[in-house]
Amino acid sequence: MMLDIATLRVALAVVDLTLLLLFYFITFRRTRSTYTGWWCLALLLFLSGNAAYLMDGTPHQVWTNPLGNVLLVAGAASIWAGARSLRTTVPKIWYLAAGPAITAVASVLDQPATNVWSGGPAYLGFMGLLIGLGCRELFLLDRHFSRVHLTLAVGSGLLATFYLGRFATFVLEGRDGAVFLTVFGSVPMTICSAVIMVVASFTMAELSYEQQTQDLRSRATVDGLTGLLNRTAFLDLAENELRRLNRARTTASLILADLDHFKGINDEYGHSAGDAALQAFADACTTTVRSSDLVGRYGGEEFIILLPGVTPERAGEIASDISARMQASTSLVIPRLPTASYGIASTAPGRVDLDAMIGSADAALYRAKTLGRDRSVLAGGLEEDSA
Ligand code: GH3
Ligand code: MG
Ligand code: MG
Repeated sequence: MMLDIATLRVALAVVDLTLLLLFYFITFRRTRSTYTGWWCLALLLFLSGNAAYLMDGTPHQVWTNPLGNVLLVAGAASIWAGARSLRTTVPKIWYLAAGPAITAVASVLDQPATNVWSGGPAYLGFMGLLIGLGCRELFLLDRHFSRVHLTLAVGSGLLATFYLGRFATFVLEGRDGAVFLTVFGSVPMTICSAVIMVVASFTMAELSYEQQTQDLRSRATVDGLTGLLNRTAFLDLAENELRRLNRARTTASLILADLDHFKGINDEYGHSAGDAALQAFADACTTTVRSSDLVGRYGGEEFIILLPGVTPERAGEIASDISARMQASTSLVIPRLPTASYGIASTAPGRVDLDAMIGSADAALYRAKTLGRDRSVLAGGLEEDSA
């Protein structure tokens, strides 16, 4: 029996729709995971793109053929976005929109009224490229991320290779070439897509739950208001870092910061203005220090910073920079930003004792407060005026 392409497309659409409904109602509604969200969008775009191709050969082909190309390329971009969301942030919207936009222009300019392969090279090239980028994200994930992502990486790699093979043969020998029609024709392509879609869908539940668990884990380590590490997470990471520094015989400085007369800010301008001041201070800290330093919210209006390889004197300058940046920031919510006091301690040579360091920094901070606030004091009695 010879399968014709229209029958196959309808069969693929049925598989696609079933998976979409299953994953929307079962996985997405329960986990709300970003990954399933993008994957459901990809299935919806594939479904509508293939539906648009069913109008080939009718007078509507002039717009449905380019539309089909654009929807399928947008589906491939969604696969890339979903795979990337497992590892890091989703690509910027114009990166995602570039492929569909270029495909749209290429298809519209390529006689879509009579040419069912309008914009063929753009469509095939972007399908291969975007699915390939999704495959790359899956390979970049930690090997222990899940039990299934490597299977999916291989599957999407095969699909990307298949599309790139189609792209190459289309460019080299044209739409009527022998290799293009047999090896990379629409029938093998549709079957291949269906198989990959089913494989991908089987792995979806596992990946979504993994993403949800990671979200919960990150919420347990990050302070909700400022986005800094919370106290527990900071102490855990700082302990590890100090042990590592001790092995490398490197010193470190620790800054404990406390906003001055913060209660007055709340009383005068309201609690949400107080929250804005805390966020402004957190931003001032993160923009001043290096990305390898650790910054945490230690308590209400107290912050803690670990600076590996930094002398206490240099830490004093960093504290001044934080205060200067804080005062330079403008906020619509709060007319006056509070000043801050800092206590600075450093690691004793050959000893790693985070508790002792925090104790010394706290005593220095107390001294900074009694000396009039808006300054930093180095543990051991040295005073650094940051005003
Ligand atoms: P000092 O200069 O001696 O540090 O005085 P202070 O007013 O900053 O210190 P105090 O400990 O008396 O007050 C701290 C205030 O911080 C009290 C509390 O209501 C407020 N605070 C703690 N956490 C938050 C928060 O998440 N948001 C807001 N808006 N206020 C908070
Ligand atoms: Mg305090
Ligand atoms: Mg305070």
